Amino acid sequence: MKIAVNIKNEKNSDLNKILKFAVNYSVPYLFSSLPNTKKYYLNIYLKDKKTLKAENNVEVFGCAYHMFTNGKEIKHQNKSCIDLCENLKLNKMILTLFHELAHVKQMWINNIKFLDEGAVINEVLHPYSFCGSESLSSWEIEASGYETTLFNMFTECYKLKKINFSLPYDEFYGKLNNVPQPRRKNFKGIGEGSSGERYYFG
Ligand SMILES: [Zn+2]
Repeated sequence: MKIAVNIKNEKNSDLNKILKFAVNYSVPYLFSSLPNTKKYYLNIYLKDKKTLKAENNVEVFGCAYHMFTNGKEIKHQNKSCIDLCENLKLNKMILTLFHELAHVKQMWINNIKFLDEGAVINEVLHPYSFCGSESLSSWEIEASGYETTLFNMFTECYKLKKINFSLPYDEFYGKLNNVPQPRRKNFKGIGEGSSGERYYFG
């Protein structure tokens, strides 16, 4: 598959690199079953706490939603957005990113549709059910599972201790790059434009 990831944040390019790195890490675990023929788009917006609260009516660390052009009509099955709170500590930001990426997986692979009202269109293709409470919904339970699992794997893989997350962003990014990328099945590498790649970052 090809996934074009754009981080919309002018403030800190080292943070953007870290976030792309974390997205990259999640790809083989979340998105490996996407068809090779289709291109996917993911925009990640960093927003301050106040803006996120105003847009969601409640305090949230992040959210994932379909890219749309026309009211509530979901025009772009293969295009999604993530909002992340820029005021979070780095460990919490990465944890939240993994959670929201799991929701993007649900949109792209399980064909789940998140609507403004918080409801979901049930379709044969996805196995999710609503349990009466948003936090107990099957898609949230799944996303929480991915969040914890991916974060634990990520910190173990890159030998990250709690103290690492308080490093300046450039030092943290350097630390990530000091550990060789693990070889994974069906994983042909990353990078824009290199031949044989299965996805790239735009
Ligand atoms: Zn969620």
